[in-house]
Amino acid sequence: MNTVSDSPDYTVLARKSALSQPIYEPGKPIEDVARELGLDPSTIIKVASNENAFGASPAAMEAGRDAIGQCELYPDGGCARVKESLAQKRRVSAEQLIIGNGSNEIIELLGHAFLEPGDEVVMGAPAFIVYKLVTLLFGGTPIEVPLIDHRHDLNALAAAVTDRTKLVFLPSPNNPTGTANSQEEIFQFVRQLPDSVIFVFDEAYAEYLESPPDLRPLIEEGRKVICLRTFSKIYGLAGLRIGYGYSSRSMIQLLNRVRQPFNINAVAQVAAVAALADDAFINHCRVSNDKGRAQLEEAFIKMRLEFIPSAANFVMVKVGDGNAVFQELQKEGIIVRPMAPYGMGEWVRVTVGSPGQNERLLTELKKKVRK
Ligand SMILES: *Cc1c(COP(=O)(O)O)cnc(C)c1O
Repeated sequence: MNTVSDSPDYTVLARKSALSQPIYEPGKPIEDVARELGLDPSTIIKVASNENAFGASPAAMEAGRDAIGQCELYPDGGCARVKESLAQKRRVSAEQLIIGNGSNEIIELLGHAFLEPGDEVVMGAPAFIVYKLVTLLFGGTPIEVPLIDHRHDLNALAAAVTDRTKLVFLPSPNNPTGTANSQEEIFQFVRQLPDSVIFVFDEAYAEYLESPPDLRPLIEEGRKVICLRTFSKIYGLAGLRIGYGYSSRSMIQLLNRVRQPFNINAVAQVAAVAALADDAFINHCRVSNDKGRAQLEEAFIKMRLEFIPSAANFVMVKVGDGNAVFQELQKEGIIVRPMAPYGMGEWVRVTVGSPGQNERLLTELKKKVRK
């Protein structure tokens, strides 16, 4: 009889890009931290992943609970109800919408649909890390353009475009810096891009802006543009995994070819529809976030800590040794995000919390960075 290893070597069979693929490091889950440090999970606050500190719309949660009752059925693969609600909200037609398992999935679908090995993808640095991960996954080359004063420099992005460029990503507000670009500069930038380039505008935090840029005129005039939004942030549905993109019909048709038939579960679909109808909750979140962000930023000023003025639901603050401060805060049951993986080792990113959570974070931070 052959000796059979229970752990065969799969790497010899793997695609090269899979072997060299970097691994995404998510914010630590509350349960893990509780177990590791022997803390009561209910006392831990997680301000590491830009989730909504104010929860989710009660109407959305109610709708989600009801939908569980029919979980033996496949969901609507076309997400008709979600598209209907979104079409009204975004003032586009249903055929201009694609729904994703989080907007992360749509970033991956762009890879499936467009990226060939050797294609270049232009992005800021630091920006949302998933752009780079997806580019590498498809054998593309990430072209990382340094931010200037922590903000995307659109002239430098334009200068990085070559005839091998397939996609250009711009998140505004950016994650992790929280900085935003104006509609005017974005329009100018997109109108001078060659027709061989697709502009991907990531609007994950748009709802936190008073008047977010509206790129529909660019789509209407035939520019190659897709806008991405998510239910994970202000809508408070990160755990259900649902996001969307809007673009021209021809783009959406192509993305639909490369997605799984039932990519959005039934609970997420009904919760998203209910969330879209609950404007009161979203307004409450925006106002509360503005207050909480001011609370953090004012305290950072008093503490003489450098921070990046943010337009989103998180703030980057310079604390010295970001990893050490992350560890220290974690011992107190506060999970922040160290920024070393983004090449900013002296910084941590903190999500805006409830007033009480912010207070607790600030109290502990004062002890850790006392100078
Ligand atoms: C959080 C975030 C997303 C959304 O991801 P989902 O997959 O929808 O949860 C997309 N882009 C940026 C820049 C983000 O910060």
